[in-house]
Amino acid sequence: MIGKWIRAGRRRRLLAKPPPREWGEWLPTAVLWYAGWSSEYREKLVANMRIFIAEKYWEGCDGLVVTDEMKFMIAAQACMMLTGVEGYCFEGVKTILVYPQQFRRKANDGLLEWHEWRSGEAWERGPIVLAWGDLVDGLDYGHNLVVHEFAHHVDGLNGSMSGRPWFKDRETERDWERVSREEMQLLREQTNLGVDTLLDPYGSTNRAEFFAVSSETFFELPKELRQHHPRLYDILSKVYGIDPAGWT
Ligand SMILES: [Zn+2]
Repeated sequence: MIGKWIRAGRRRRLLAKPPPREWGEWLPTAVLWYAGWSSEYREKLVANMRIFIAEKYWEGCDGLVVTDEMKFMIAAQACMMLTGVEGYCFEGVKTILVYPQQFRRKANDGLLEWHEWRSGEAWERGPIVLAWGDLVDGLDYGHNLVVHEFAHHVDGLNGSMSGRPWFKDRETERDWERVSREEMQLLREQTNLGVDTLLDPYGSTNRAEFFAVSSETFFELPKELRQHHPRLYDILSKVYGIDPAGWT
């Protein structure tokens, strides 16, 4: 309780000062939807970003120095996800590790062990890891590495990153079970046939990746998602509390 009061006081003092002046110029470029947003959404985004930047422990890896611009960019993408959320500013993520490019990790399937290159990672009750090079490149193609990794975190808020996020009601939970299973199956079939898909084929890997990939498309290409996958769009609207297909 005392910790919460201290944090609330610290946040009040932080937000009493104006945000960095350069943010006015950076925001419309960093957040695709910013120019068309209401002042309420804009103010919420900026407040969340300032709290996010101030309260996370930032660490550059492989010699990378995490600049203010990098923190801004990561905070902008992550906090865009919170426009329809009340009372949460990713407090569950304490640390953000940033690599200059993809990083090598050991992987195994229980039998074999190998090394693979990764763009990002989200640890349950642990850090978010991001490759800066991939983060910037991906933004041009309807992908969003930051949204992807923070979606894994959102998925894990109910105790496990299993592709079954927390829902307010049982009915939506049941809908999600059915819709995500059918949509994953469709994605797998279309990928096998070599058909171009709106959702990244990586989403057919498992339930957790399907939720993360769908979240990327929900924020980056919402109109297209609503048009081609309306049931998926509707459920994600409930998860994130927003209707981005109406954004301009
Ligand atoms: Zn993933």
